Amino acid sequence: MSLKRIQDAVTGKKMICPTCKKPVQKFEKYAETIDAVRDGFNIQEIDSHSSRVTLICNNDGCDWKERTEYWENYIDE
Ligand SMILES: [Zn+2]
Repeated sequence: MSLKRIQDAVTGKKMICPTCKKPVQKFEKYAETIDAVRDGFNIQEIDSHSSRVTLICNNDGCDWKERTEYWENYIDE
Protein backbone atom coordinates (compact mmCIF):
# COMPACT_ATOMS: atom_id res chain seq x y z
CA MET A 1 0.00 0.00 0.00
CA SER A 2 2.67 2.45 0.96
CA LEU A 3 4.70 1.77 -2.17
CA LYS A 4 1.67 2.46 -4.34
CA ARG A 5 1.09 5.70 -2.45
CA ILE A 6 4.68 6.79 -3.00
CA GLN A 7 4.51 5.88 -6.68
CA ASP A 8 1.25 7.74 -7.16
CA ALA A 9 2.60 10.80 -5.38
CA VAL A 10 5.76 10.89 -7.48
CA THR A 11 4.07 10.21 -10.83
CA GLY A 12 1.25 12.60 -9.95
CA LYS A 13 3.86 15.25 -9.04
CA LYS A 14 2.54 15.57 -5.52
CA MET A 15 5.76 14.67 -3.77
CA ILE A 16 7.25 18.10 -3.27
CA CYS A 17 10.93 18.83 -2.71
CA PRO A 18 11.33 21.03 0.40
CA THR A 19 14.34 22.80 -1.13
CA CYS A 20 13.19 23.91 -4.58
CA LYS A 21 9.42 23.33 -4.11
CA LYS A 22 9.20 21.41 -7.35
CA PRO A 23 7.92 17.85 -7.67
CA VAL A 24 10.38 15.16 -6.73
CA GLN A 25 11.36 13.21 -9.84
CA LYS A 26 12.49 9.89 -8.49
CA PHE A 27 12.54 7.55 -5.57
CA GLU A 28 14.43 4.40 -4.87
CA LYS A 29 15.27 1.81 -2.26
CA TYR A 30 11.83 1.27 -0.93
CA ALA A 31 11.85 -0.94 2.13
CA GLU A 32 9.35 -2.02 4.67
CA THR A 33 11.16 -1.46 7.89
CA ILE A 34 10.92 -3.84 10.72
CA ASP A 35 12.73 -2.53 13.72
CA ALA A 36 13.44 -5.26 16.16
CA VAL A 37 15.19 -5.31 19.45
CA ARG A 38 16.68 -8.30 21.11
CA ASP A 39 15.40 -8.70 24.60
CA GLY A 40 17.19 -11.69 25.99
CA PHE A 41 16.17 -14.48 23.67
CA ASN A 42 13.02 -12.80 22.55
CA ILE A 43 12.83 -10.52 19.57
CA GLN A 44 10.21 -7.87 19.81
CA GLU A 45 8.98 -6.04 16.79
CA ILE A 46 8.56 -2.39 17.56
CA ASP A 47 7.20 -0.97 14.38
CA SER A 48 6.57 -3.02 11.29
CA HIS A 49 4.26 -0.57 9.58
CA SER A 50 6.57 2.15 8.41
CA SER A 51 8.26 2.08 5.05
CA ARG A 52 11.44 3.84 4.13
CA VAL A 53 12.29 5.32 0.80
CA THR A 54 15.00 7.46 -0.70
CA LEU A 55 13.48 10.50 -2.37
CA ILE A 56 15.56 12.16 -5.07
CA CYS A 57 14.57 15.59 -6.28
CA ASN A 58 16.59 15.45 -9.53
CA ASN A 59 15.36 18.84 -10.75
CA ASP A 60 17.86 21.17 -12.42
CA GLY A 61 20.11 22.83 -9.90
CA CYS A 62 18.78 20.86 -6.95
CA ASP A 63 20.53 17.92 -5.42
CA TRP A 64 18.12 17.29 -2.55
CA LYS A 65 17.94 13.69 -1.59
CA GLU A 66 16.60 12.13 1.55
CA ARG A 67 16.19 8.70 2.99
CA THR A 68 13.12 8.90 5.12
CA GLU A 69 10.27 7.10 6.77
CA TYR A 70 8.34 10.36 6.89
CA TRP A 71 7.82 10.73 3.15
CA GLU A 72 4.15 11.43 3.77
CA ASN A 73 5.17 14.87 5.03
CA TYR A 74 6.32 15.74 1.50
CA ILE A 75 3.09 14.82 -0.21
CA ASP A 76 1.06 17.86 -1.08
CA GLU A 77 -2.62 17.05 -1.46
ZN1 LIG B 1 14.55 20.09 -5.26
